[in-house]
Amino acid sequence: MPSLRAAGMRQTPQREGILRVLKNSDRPLTVEEIWERMPERRSGLPTVYRNLERFVREGWAESIMGPDQVMRFVRCDSRHHHHHLQCDRCGRTAEVDACGLDESLAGLEKLSGFRITRHQLMLFGLCPACRSEAPVPKAGREKDR
Ligand SMILES: [Zn+2]
Ligand SMILES: [Zn+2]
Ligand SMILES: [Zn+2]
Repeated sequence: MPSLRAAGMRQTPQREGILRVLKNSDRPLTVEEIWERMPERRSGLPTVYRNLERFVREGWAESIMGPDQVMRFVRCDSRHHHHHLQCDRCGRTAEVDACGLDESLAGLEKLSGFRITRHQLMLFGLCPACRSEAPVPKAGREKDR
């Protein structure tokens, strides 16, 4: 593990560059893709990766493990606990500034005896654009629309 301290984050051009690349993409990007899109690449991939890890820890970005087992990153706009959705068809992601799991978590605490302090949840489905493009090939799923 890289020894990054949770001290104040300096806004270096490098970090600003990474955040801008993430902001300009509506799909999660791999470290390589982010690096390729940066205007100046004076620092190498490991530095970009370290900064991304830090962003994730500080809540500026989220890491998403793809079905191909490759880690990708998206920008976070919300400053509090929230979740991301990803479209199975086009790969676009969206952020929901909500959790909605409080009651379920209380139930899970009761079941497990754990005191749950954090959780990660990634939601997958069809984005509005893809939903209107073609009908979802799945029968009998009309009740929650
Ligand atoms: Zn986020
Ligand atoms: Zn989509
Ligand atoms: Zn949550």
